[in-house]
Amino acid sequence: MSEMLKVRELFPEGQIQFIAGPCAVESEVQINSTAKFLSGLGVRIMRGGAFKPRTAPESFQGLAEEGLKIMRRAADRFGMLVVTEVMDEENLDLVEEYTDIFQIGSRNCQNFSLLKKVGRRQKPVLIKRGFGNTIEEFYQATRYISREGNDQIIMVERGIRTFEESTRFTLDISAVPVLKGMVNYPVIVDPSHPAGKREYVPSLSYAAVGAGADGLMIEVHPDPERAMSDARQQVNFETFEEIYRKSLKIRESMI
Ligand code: PEP
Ligand code: MN
Repeated sequence: MSEMLKVRELFPEGQIQFIAGPCAVESEVQINSTAKFLSGLGVRIMRGGAFKPRTAPESFQGLAEEGLKIMRRAADRFGMLVVTEVMDEENLDLVEEYTDIFQIGSRNCQNFSLLKKVGRRQKPVLIKRGFGNTIEEFYQATRYISREGNDQIIMVERGIRTFEESTRFTLDISAVPVLKGMVNYPVIVDPSHPAGKREYVPSLSYAAVGAGADGLMIEVHPDPERAMSDARQQVNFETFEEIYRKSLKIRESMI
């Protein structure tokens, strides 16, 4: 069996690393062009959902196994790693076959039985904060994974529900320093889901870097307007490249 990936090697202390890719896997062409672009910039980890937790059951639910295959092929071709969401225990073996890192979505942050199951697997787990969870609850959720033996965990602040309605969620920037004081895991920020609108994604990204995040997880799409999910918040390649370059500069200026 191959060596287990170490999250601290993917997200070294004092650096900013990127996870990028579309909200959902839609086609081979979409994923190939994204992987080509991202790997060319130096991004090592590609995201993309094959099982999508959509609010309405009529909405596009993802390509399932076909989507996983598309991600795996493109990542292998361009020398990248895959992170993709496992929504339920039923698909855990299937997702494990194709992914390098399991993603636990916001809605499953306190699905303790799923957390215990990924805790028994030999792949890192990227867990997103439940949008109704306190930082302490988020931390306790990671303990359900680590207690089973898997301590290769990446924590993602992705916004919480507040009374504010001008953004989709409220990015809790304080969670970055608070979590970094509590755990040794990489703490990263997803600026896309709290923003809800692509024009806010750059600002939230820079705020996260300034707050000391170890990485950014950003939704990028070759043609965002035509995306099958989260079309309003996905950035195009050009905007992503600008965020990428500026974030590296900000991080450098902090040393
Ligand atoms: C995602 O990152 O694909 C996603 C669905 O986000 P969240 O679980 O944070 O809503
Ligand atoms: Mn999304």
